[in-house]
Amino acid sequence: MSGGDMAKPLLGQRNTEGDPSIMPAAGRTIGVLGSGDFARSLAIRLVCSGFKVVVGSRNPKRKAGLFPSAAEVTFQAEAVKKTDVIFVAVFREHYSTLCDLADVLAGKILVDVSNNTEINHHKESNAEYLASLFPACTVVKGFNVVSAWTLQSGARDGNKQVLICSNNQEAKRTVAEIAQVMGFTPVDMGCMSSACEIENIPLRLLPAWKIPIFLALGLFLCFFTYNLVRQVIHPYVREQKNKFYKIPVEVVNTTLPCVAYVMLSLVYLPGVLAACSQLYYGTKYRRFPDWLDQWLQHRKQIGLLSFFCAALHALYSLCLPMRRSHRYQLIETAVKQAVEKKMNIWVEEEVWRMEIYISVGIIALGLLSLLAITSLPSIANSLNWREFSFIQSTLGFIALVISTLHTLTYGWSRAFDENQYKFYLPPTYTLTLLVPCTVILAKVVFILPCVQQRLLRIRRGWEKGRYVKFVLPSATGEYSSGETSSNV
Ligand code: NAP
Repeated sequence: MSGGDMAKPLLGQRNTEGDPSIMPAAGRTIGVLGSGDFARSLAIRLVCSGFKVVVGSRNPKRKAGLFPSAAEVTFQAEAVKKTDVIFVAVFREHYSTLCDLADVLAGKILVDVSNNTEINHHKESNAEYLASLFPACTVVKGFNVVSAWTLQSGARDGNKQVLICSNNQEAKRTVAEIAQVMGFTPVDMGCMSSACEIENIPLRLLPAWKIPIFLALGLFLCFFTYNLVRQVIHPYVREQKNKFYKIPVEVVNTTLPCVAYVMLSLVYLPGVLAACSQLYYGTKYRRFPDWLDQWLQHRKQIGLLSFFCAALHALYSLCLPMRRSHRYQLIETAVKQAVEKKMNIWVEEEVWRMEIYISVGIIALGLLSLLAITSLPSIANSLNWREFSFIQSTLGFIALVISTLHTLTYGWSRAFDENQYKFYLPPTYTLTLLVPCTVILAKVVFILPCVQQRLLRIRRGWEKGRYVKFVLPSATGEYSSGETSSNV
């Protein structure tokens, strides 16, 4: 993107409602070359948005029935003659077959909507290739990130953004106006050199999720192995007991909350590290290291994965009593008690522990659901900054504290029981407490007035060692000004 383009506001930031400058776009005739899925959806959307549509097909008779009656379906050359803006809804491989139309297309705007099948498939982008075939036309890249389905269902049901780029500002503005009238949000991506990047976007597979998913899988693998050793391998080696049946449900179910809990704490840890860095350097203007920057940017995905694991843990826990192994164990215990003539098996402490454990677990899951729901763009957009930060920051931290209570009530006094140290390995829950407790402790320190004040000042622009102008009241009540080092 050129410097000039960068300086301009995104077209998407323009408010379309009540903007009379965009209205003339509706009512104009738009051409569509091709009669496939995308062309059909595009024609329907354009007609619904008040445009006249003329479709250019190699076989108009056969294809006319597929289009709304308001759209005119004719031969390619005929269609092109009737309009100045033409969407090329044809695959790149077939662009050369349109070369016969070069004369009638001269001076017109061609909108390249094409996608590739692989990232960086060709040396030049499809739009640049189209521009090289039709040098007398102005090519605009756009609409390729919108699916045929989104076009048909209206912009409400899918991604609203339409990324646009072109070397011609006027042509870009025309296409942006058409997109706005259709209910999309055009985003100016600058000049034609951005086309390659725009064409790669629909092909990327969850780019923002890769690191969080690997993190979750890594944690799952570590905790799963640890639990396997403690719950299955240890009884097998030490007492020759076969507990392998525990692997599919019990081991997984003790692993999932560990991952959920640690992942939740990893959502708040980078914020703590960022605050520590700001406090240490006494400025908010120093760049964070790249790894911290990346970590901060992935908090939403880490939080959603934490919620996913917590939800699975809840489902697994609900299903625990359904297992045959559980029923056999219950009957076995009942028979044992009958043989030993034990009547009262009620342990008050255990009853209370379990009640509190389940209750705080449900509250934690409820809060995590709230965090997950409010991170959805449609919901997040309806909240103001204070509401969003209250839910994600304050309620999120409360969720972490409640999850810690859930973990502590689960563990209870087991950390002090030496029988729980299988192969000298401490109970899993003690390990999971490490990061969350560090985060909670750091947050408590940040609440201390002396630390909070300093952090607040830094976040409002104060810098250690920088001289600032100050204003002090004099003995006479008048104000005098001077300069001092702000960290004195
Ligand atoms: P499609 O259903 O296969 O339609 C392609 C159309 O190209 C055909 O119906 C055909 O119409 C026309 N065409 C012109 N010259 C041709 C030739 N020599 N050989 C074969 N066909 C020729 O494909 P589509 O899904 O609509 O995709 C069209 C373009 O939109 C592609 O570049 C695609 O990457 C892009 N796109 C599609 C979607 C989507 O959701 N489908 C989303 C974003 C972008 P006539 O027979 O009437 O000439």
